[in-house]
Amino acid sequence: MCLFCRIVKGEIPSRPVYRDDRLYAFHDINPQAPLHVLVVPHKHIATLNDLTEEDERLVGAMVRRAAAIAREHGYDRRGFRTVFNCNAEAGQSVYHLHLHLLAGRRLGWPPG
Ligand code: AMP
Ligand code: ZN
Repeated sequence: MCLFCRIVKGEIPSRPVYRDDRLYAFHDINPQAPLHVLVVPHKHIATLNDLTEEDERLVGAMVRRAAAIAREHGYDRRGFRTVFNCNAEAGQSVYHLHLHLLAGRRLGWPPG
């Protein structure tokens, strides 16, 4: 089983932010900003390349949840960034779909 499947099941500890029957959000272990949360579906999907039409509502829920968490932490007006890294050249290191939520500092553009 992959790392994030094990985190979703609670077999590996994490710092929870939000959970429902489809999604789990938790703090990144190596935060790159004052707020760095990962929004993860319970369903194992390896990369963005593996999404199907039946996943559209799930991905929409991930994006809306990231925005809700940003708002709950007071970053909705200041700003925040959401990122899906896909495959090696983009820096994906865990092959279970996850949406990064970053906030709390000025984020450079273009990203590195
Ligand atoms: P990516 O590089 O886009 O695949 O993102 C994977 C993220 O997972 C990285 O930001 C890591 O810091 C984070 N990560 C890896 N292991 C853990 C863990 N055990 N708990 C929380 N976050 C983790
Ligand atoms: Zn998985």
